[in-house]
Amino acid sequence: MTLATRRDLIKGLGGLAAVGATARLRAAPERADVVVIGGGFAGLNAAIVLSDAGANVTVLEAGGRIGGRAYTADQWTDRPELGASQIGPLYGRIRNAADRFGVALKPFPVQSEPFVFAIGDQLIAASDWAQSPFNKTVGEERGVPPSFLLPSYISKHNPLKGSDDWLQPGAAEFDVAAADWLRAHGASNEALRLMNAGVVADELSRVSLLTMLQESTRLMIAIRAAAVAQPAVAKTAQVAGGTSRLTEAMALHLGDRVRMNQAVTAIRMDRSTVEVATVDGTRYNSDFVIAAVPFVSLRELHIEPALAGVQSEAVTRMPYANTSQVFFALKDGDDYWQQDGLAPSLWTDGEVSMFRKMTGTSLLVAVNTGPKADVMDQLPAAERGARALAELERLRPATKGRVEFVGAHSWRQQPFIRGCRHSYAPGDVSRFVPAMFQPHERLHFAGEHTRQLEMGMESAMESGERAAVEILTG
Ligand SMILES: Cc1cc2nc3c(=O)[nH]c(=O)nc-3n(C[C@H](O)[C@H](O)[C@H](O)COP(=O)(O)OP(=O)(O)OC[C@H]3O[C@@H](n4cnc5c(N)ncnc54)[C@H](O)[C@@H]3O)c2cc1C
Repeated sequence: MTLATRRDLIKGLGGLAAVGATARLRAAPERADVVVIGGGFAGLNAAIVLSDAGANVTVLEAGGRIGGRAYTADQWTDRPELGASQIGPLYGRIRNAADRFGVALKPFPVQSEPFVFAIGDQLIAASDWAQSPFNKTVGEERGVPPSFLLPSYISKHNPLKGSDDWLQPGAAEFDVAAADWLRAHGASNEALRLMNAGVVADELSRVSLLTMLQESTRLMIAIRAAAVAQPAVAKTAQVAGGTSRLTEAMALHLGDRVRMNQAVTAIRMDRSTVEVATVDGTRYNSDFVIAAVPFVSLRELHIEPALAGVQSEAVTRMPYANTSQVFFALKDGDDYWQQDGLAPSLWTDGEVSMFRKMTGTSLLVAVNTGPKADVMDQLPAAERGARALAELERLRPATKGRVEFVGAHSWRQQPFIRGCRHSYAPGDVSRFVPAMFQPHERLHFAGEHTRQLEMGMESAMESGERAAVEILTG
C-alpha cells in the first residue's frame, strides 16, 4: 500500500467515525484518529508509522519518562542501562529509527569482564571448571560454564530453523516445560539446578520451552547473518549516550502528540468510537486505540466491551519475569581482582545470580533474575544493596571496603511495567498466541509480548508496526 492510499484510507476512517460519534463523545476535550497507550518502543513506533501515513495520533504515557524498558540511568555514575542496550545485527527497524532521527550508534563492547564461578562458597576459575571436583555436572556438560548450560543445550538441540517456526501448528509439541525437554536431552539434575540458578523467568519446570527456542533460533540467524554481512552493518551495536536517547528522539519527532503522566484507566468502545480515560480524568476520543503496554498493566484497565475467552485469559494470566539489579561503583578505580587473582565478574549459584563487572566502567552490578529477584525485592532498595554487598564480600573477601552502593532498580517495582519481560507457562504459547493479540473491537495490541519474528527492542518495534498496519489496512 502506498503512503497516499494509506492517507486516503485513514481519512476515510476518520470521516466515518465522526459521523457515528455520540453527543457525549463529541463533547470530549481531545480527539485523535488513533490513541496509542504506552510510550515504549512499541507505542512510539506504532505512532510514527500511523503519523507517517497521515493519521492524527496521540500517545499516552503513564509515567514522567519516555521509553519504558529503554532506560538509561543518567543520574548514576557511568550512566548504566537499566533495560535494553544491545542492538542485534538484524535490528532493521531500530537501526532505521536511529538513522532517521539522527541518533548515533556505536559498537557494543563485550558487556561484562570475564567470570569466576562460585558453587556454594567455593570459587572456581573458568579454566579449572571442567576438572573441578565442585563441578557436579556430567559428561559433556562438564566443559560448559554454568551460565552457558541453558543456551548450550537449547542451541544444540533446537529443532526450529526459521523465525516463524514457533508459530506453526507443528511447534505445539515443544510448548512443554523446558525442564522436561532438557532432561529428555540428557541434562543432569545438577545441570538443571545450575540453569535454574540463573533463569530470567520462572523455574524451568514452569516455563514453556517454545519461546526459548524462538529466541535461540532468532539469535542463530543473526549470528549467521553477521558472519557473512559487511562488518559495519553486521556488528552488534548500542546507542551512543544510552538507549534512552533513541526513545527520546522518537518522542521528540512526535512532539506534543506525546502526553506524559497520562496513566490510562479505562477504554470504552462503541460501534464507531473509542473513549480512553486517564487517571486525572482527562478523556480522549478516537477511532482506534492501540494498547502498547505489558499485559500485566493492561489487566488493570477497565475495558468495555470486556475481553473474552482465551484473549481475556492471556491478558489476565500471562506471567511476567523480574530482573532486579544493584549497582556498585569501585572506589577510586579499585581492582580487587588483582588482589585475589580471579576474574573480575562472579557468577554464583547463591542468593545473587551474578556480579557483573561492566567493561570500560567503574560499575559492578549485582543481578538477580526470576524467583531470586522477587525474593530480593522484598527488601527496600538500600537493604538490597547491603545484602548484595554482604554476599559479595563473603564470597570474595578481596572486595571488602572497595565498592560503594550507587543505586538499585527492580523492574517488578516499576508501577506501569511490573516485570522485565513476558513469559509463558507450558502449553500457553499454543493456547494464547493465536488469540491474544487479535484486535478486539477497535482495540489493537502491541508490545514485545505480541512479537512474531523478532526479540527484544526490535520485537517491540515490529509489534507497533503490525498494530499500526492493522488499523491502516482495516
Ligand atoms: C533488564 C533488561 C535488559 C534488556 N536488554 C535488552 C537488550 O540488550 N536488547 C534488546 O533488544 N532488548 C532488551 N530488553 C528488552 C526491551 O527492553 C523490551 O523488549 C522493549 O523495550 C519493550 O518495549 P515495549 O514498548 O513493548 O514495552 P515498554 O518499554 O515496557 O513500554 C510500555 C510503556 O507503557 C507504559 N504504560 C503502562 N501502563 C500504562 C497505562 N495504563 N497508561 C499509559 N501508559 C502505560 C509504561 O510506562 C511504558 O512506558 C531488555 C529488557 C530489560 C528489562
